[in-house]
Amino acid sequence: MRKAIFLNFPTHGCINSLLATAAELVNRGEKIIYYCTEEFRPKIEKTGARFRPYKGNVNTFKIENDDLFYALKLNVEMTIDKLDHNFDAIRKETPDYIIHDSLCTWGKHMASILGIPAVNLMHSFPLTESLTSFTFDTAPIFIKTGLYKTMNKFKKNSPKKILKKNYDIHLSFKDMLINKENLNIIYTPACMAPDIFRSEKTYRFVGPSLFFKKEQDDFPFDRLSRRKVIYISLGTLHNNKADFYKICVTAFTGTEYCVVISVGFQIDVNEFDDVPDNFIIRQSVPQQRLLGHVSLFITHAGMNSVNEAICSGVPMLLLPHQFEQKMIAQRIAMLGIGIEMRYKKITPQKLYETAEKLISDPGYKNMASQYQSIFNKEEKTSHLKAADEILQYINKQI
Ligand code: UDP
Repeated sequence: MRKAIFLNFPTHGCINSLLATAAELVNRGEKIIYYCTEEFRPKIEKTGARFRPYKGNVNTFKIENDDLFYALKLNVEMTIDKLDHNFDAIRKETPDYIIHDSLCTWGKHMASILGIPAVNLMHSFPLTESLTSFTFDTAPIFIKTGLYKTMNKFKKNSPKKILKKNYDIHLSFKDMLINKENLNIIYTPACMAPDIFRSEKTYRFVGPSLFFKKEQDDFPFDRLSRRKVIYISLGTLHNNKADFYKICVTAFTGTEYCVVISVGFQIDVNEFDDVPDNFIIRQSVPQQRLLGHVSLFITHAGMNSVNEAICSGVPMLLLPHQFEQKMIAQRIAMLGIGIEMRYKKITPQKLYETAEKLISDPGYKNMASQYQSIFNKEEKTSHLKAADEILQYINKQI
């Protein structure tokens, strides 16, 4: 029996698509030891993998905003913390290979220090070498990475210097944003891939991977039966946006729609006084099941959310605020399944009018239904394809 260590960046978005693959590897007789933070234990144990909690300052790392400078800093600090507190235990496991997600920089470095192969599983589009040209869209990335590099150069005990000194890791910031391996699996169909990925030989588009379709919850599904439903969520990471949710409430109060908002755990639902009758506001909802009941999804265009919406044939109003979400949103708009709007320019009136357009024009629903069958077909085999790719690759390496 071969032993693999799974290392995940601890967010639902980074984990959800990977779970079916972990379960499939367990089915095929691989011994999977899965490291993550305690809050994800129940999800991970459902795959049959052995869960191990990360040791270290796990609770001090909070993703509070979507600033790239802050994200880079956090990722480097987390990499040091994970190496300092978990690397010895992982070395003692004597794994044959490592599987990590695309934000998990420590996974990549642990594999290279141990001299064992690693595979990168991606729940979203990567930044590729071909994207590293200076354009209007990439400019903020260059500026923020430049700032972070400068900070590391002049600061005496900068995280970058610590990594070099303690682990002989030369941290390349470009690499950190890509976190690439010789095999990179992306959980969406190839038809979602922008042209820039076609020349990248190490990427495999295996299709969407949904693991929680049948999950139960106390969500009041009976309240949805009479009206058309609009579902609003900015995902699980950058969702601390009280002003945005207030705009949504203003936009749809007193309308014919039933509006469900998932606000996340950084916001207290009691902050919303006098919630109108046609609203259900929760910190979290069973998204995959809920999407089966909705006419429109207002989303931040996270890859999991978009895959899940298309698997349910739901058109989208897309409000990306990260670079890769923008790529996803543009693709969805191009496929005719949604409309992209600028998050910062949103007003109640614009939001309402665009939602109306997406619901009343049957073209969007028709396109969503066309892609629904492609996505659902691929979803049935994505975990099998991912496991095939991983095992073929690992067999060649060891
Ligand atoms: N999700 C959920 N309930 C919620 C909000 C989100 O189950 O109330 C799940 C959603 O189904 C998806 C994931 O959280 O699988 C969010 O991932 P995505 O890539 O869309 O966004 P991220 O959270 O990484 O920004």
